[in-house]
Amino acid sequence: MTEHKELYDRVFGLIEKHDQWMHNTINLIASENVSSPAVRSAIVCDFRDRYAEGWPGERVYAGCRYIDEVELVCIDLAKKLFRAEFADVRPVSGVVANLMMYTAFMAPGDRMMALSIAHGGHISHARGSLGGTAGAVRGHKVQNWVFDEAEFNIDVDASMKKIRGLFQDGKEVKFLLFGGSVFLFPHPVKEFRDIADEYGMHIGYDSAHVSGLIAGGKFQDPLREGADVVTASTHKTLPGPQHGIVLSREEFAEAIKRAAFPGLMSNHHLHNVAGLAVALAEMMEFGKDYTAQILKNARALGQALHERGWKVVAEHKGFTESHQILVDISETPMKDGRTVEEQLERANIVINRNLLPWDKKRGRDYKRPGGIRLGTSEMTRLGMRKSEMEAIAEFMTRVVMRGEDVTKVAKDVAEFRKDYQRVHYAFDTETPAYQHLRFK
Ligand SMILES: *Cc1c(COP(=O)(O)O)cnc(C)c1O
Repeated sequence: MTEHKELYDRVFGLIEKHDQWMHNTINLIASENVSSPAVRSAIVCDFRDRYAEGWPGERVYAGCRYIDEVELVCIDLAKKLFRAEFADVRPVSGVVANLMMYTAFMAPGDRMMALSIAHGGHISHARGSLGGTAGAVRGHKVQNWVFDEAEFNIDVDASMKKIRGLFQDGKEVKFLLFGGSVFLFPHPVKEFRDIADEYGMHIGYDSAHVSGLIAGGKFQDPLREGADVVTASTHKTLPGPQHGIVLSREEFAEAIKRAAFPGLMSNHHLHNVAGLAVALAEMMEFGKDYTAQILKNARALGQALHERGWKVVAEHKGFTESHQILVDISETPMKDGRTVEEQLERANIVINRNLLPWDKKRGRDYKRPGGIRLGTSEMTRLGMRKSEMEAIAEFMTRVVMRGEDVTKVAKDVAEFRKDYQRVHYAFDTETPAYQHLRFK
């Protein structure tokens, strides 16, 4: 066997190992999900090898007759599901969707408001000194929303005052961006519509994490609350392929389309457009039930951890109104988020460490933060409910609070996972959730 064939085989061996591990694992990464067998089947179609620059019907490439029809179905479903006048399904990711939004609504260097990273903002919203996309790529000056740590939300009055102050100092603000990666409670969008009109600002909403919840009618409805443009990743609470989407009104359609092509993309990953169309159809059919259960499970997990002595953020508000909960683990025996993350992973429980708003004051950074973030989207998809959330809280407690042997807990987790091996809320509920589609 040649060295290259060995490496080639090694890749397939590792893929198989990964799939087997996922099969045995409790995945609570809030930004992940497992796509349905139909979505997985669509994204390996021949579209993956084709080009189709531009808008359906006006392509730069020949050979797109069926690709165009699929993209039009995808656009149509997106408009229906989100009740949007306009949808562009071309961005290849959430960050590219945000770049389309920045390009369509701001000139390079314009000033915007966004959530700071410590309060849950995404790196694509951040200023240049942090290497954030908005600042480093577009040159935007980023001012942060004032955040109420107790309410775990944007402080409306203080932020309003900050915006007026910026204008008084001659620092014009062009864009108000809502949304974030730690997103427990709906953001106050409608509260800012008047001031946006008063100063001629546009409102954007990054729904990367919560787009599935919005589609299911379970979070907030930014387009009805005054947002001019909504961006999203399509693979977090919305269980589609790794891709992005931009939703808006007809009046902004041309600017958004131009930002996509020729601005930011040549090809736009046509197989994922097909996968997204399938995912949106499944959300139309099953999305309401799916998202209702995600929310119930998030609160149940928060409650179950709380009852076991964990310090879950925003207890007085019922922990969360989304798929996420945030836990302050600084007072647990493990003391920091990285240790908790590593030990839980060894016990077949995948979570991520997360900065808490008050971490900086306590001298912590993202490497050893005081928090962890948990999401219930993927486990809900496998059919789990309240009693399973209690079981998960118990597994976590055994590892982090009682210091039990992680290999023993890992075995118990794998045993527990045996009963949850199919994707629910989908047209095909027979194909195993983590089965690799193989042709060789
Ligand atoms: C995940 C996330 C993104 C980035 O999405 P990708 O699809 O990974 O590019 C953008 N914004 C927010 C708020 C996110 O949480």
